[in-house]
Amino acid sequence: MKLFVTGGCGFIGSNFIHYILEKYPQDEVINYDLLTYAGNPENLKNWKEDSRYSFIHGDICDKEKLILSMKNAHVDVIVHFAAESHVDRSITDATSFVKTNVLGTQTLLEVARILGIPRFHHVSTDEVFGALHLEEKAFDEKTPYNPRSPYSASKAGSDHFVRAYFETYGLPVTLSNCSNNYGPFHYPEKLIPLAITNVLNGKKIPLYGEGNQIRDWLYVKDHCRAINVIIRKGLIGETYCIGGGNQPTNKEIILLLLNILGFDEEMIEYVSDRPGHDFRYDMNYEKIKKDLQWEPSISLEEGLRETVRWYKENVSWWKNV
Ligand code: NAD
Repeated sequence: MKLFVTGGCGFIGSNFIHYILEKYPQDEVINYDLLTYAGNPENLKNWKEDSRYSFIHGDICDKEKLILSMKNAHVDVIVHFAAESHVDRSITDATSFVKTNVLGTQTLLEVARILGIPRFHHVSTDEVFGALHLEEKAFDEKTPYNPRSPYSASKAGSDHFVRAYFETYGLPVTLSNCSNNYGPFHYPEKLIPLAITNVLNGKKIPLYGEGNQIRDWLYVKDHCRAINVIIRKGLIGETYCIGGGNQPTNKEIILLLLNILGFDEEMIEYVSDRPGHDFRYDMNYEKIKKDLQWEPSISLEEGLRETVRWYKENVSWWKNV
């Protein structure tokens, strides 16, 4: 298979490229990335000299460059990760989120349509569904959209365009909506890597409000396995929800991490809450489990231990970013 991966220098994209190149010795990957603050070519330095891997520095809003990059490349599938992804940044300035996540995705869809790319997979988030109360049932593929931050609104817009290209032009698409990821190469502005790197730097961990928000967490390699199974076996036009099957509060996650790192609650600094902070996310992943035989393979505790080990062994990586 020849994969055209957008945003492959970011957190999930780089984990995905490692996963594919390690698992499939015949597969080739073209990584197309703008290298924003979140993109780091160092994440893929092991593959730089490998003939199965190539990198193109480009913007998904640049139609001509996308056409040139894919025209004679015999791409089998586009796997679309590229996005602005940090909720706090979207609250400060939503413009780049609309540009990359909505216009960029539409431009990529248009190029896939013009070139007749046989398959397009769009990577999206559970945040498009809004927030749940304690007793409400988990999100699934039929949950109506109700985005509540500029980030999730822009991702919702991109999902609608992907479905519109399927319905209107018959573009062969699949979509996935996944819960919060954690693991290696995660930019230390997000909760888990921020917590680990702060503690390793001797600093306290800022926690929004009282840390009562509930998330569903998935180890990034399990997300990569899920995307892989969708692009190989998923049905065209279908959406798959992906989750980790756990419901810790943010405070519980931080206490787990502090325990692994050998520290206690003293290291938490409570800070005022994020405006419009979603209270709870929960994912029902029955469909992908039943249809494609995927389920999470790494427990939360195991994944957090692995993540702490990675940040301890790769200090220069996070000091450089
Ligand atoms: P990230 O911010 O770590 O990486 C984004 C990558 O996209 C970077 O390499 C960046 O350089 C690149 N990029 C940004 N704008 C671009 C543009 N205009 N053209 C080309 N490349 C561009 O993001 P991530 O956490 O790896 O998330 C990847 C995808 O997965 C996103 O679409 C996100 O919405 C989705 N997602 C993330 C999570 C999560 O927990 N991180 C969960 C569910 C879904």
